[in-house]
Amino acid sequence: MVKLLSCTHGCPGQPQPVRVTRSFRHQPSHAELVVHGIPVNVCAACGQSFVEEETALQLQALLQSLPSPWQGKTHVEFGACFEDKPARL
Ligand SMILES: [Zn+2]
Repeated sequence: MVKLLSCTHGCPGQPQPVRVTRSFRHQPSHAELVVHGIPVNVCAACGQSFVEEETALQLQALLQSLPSPWQGKTHVEFGACFEDKPARL
């Protein structure tokens, strides 16, 4: 799937696909979930990042699929959850 993206209005940059690590806070336990390898598109010119809708939905599903409540700080691999093998933490 090749999709050309343009950045926000007025920016000459073109977002490129990269993988990033993001952390999420679970409320109200304050446990932290660190998700590695999230595919996003980042504009090198202005640093703006864009998350595709599909990715956002997968991320949401990932967060909801985790045993609750999270404990302390948990690391997961984004891609691992959507392959045949179950994720190993
Ligand atoms: Zn830009």
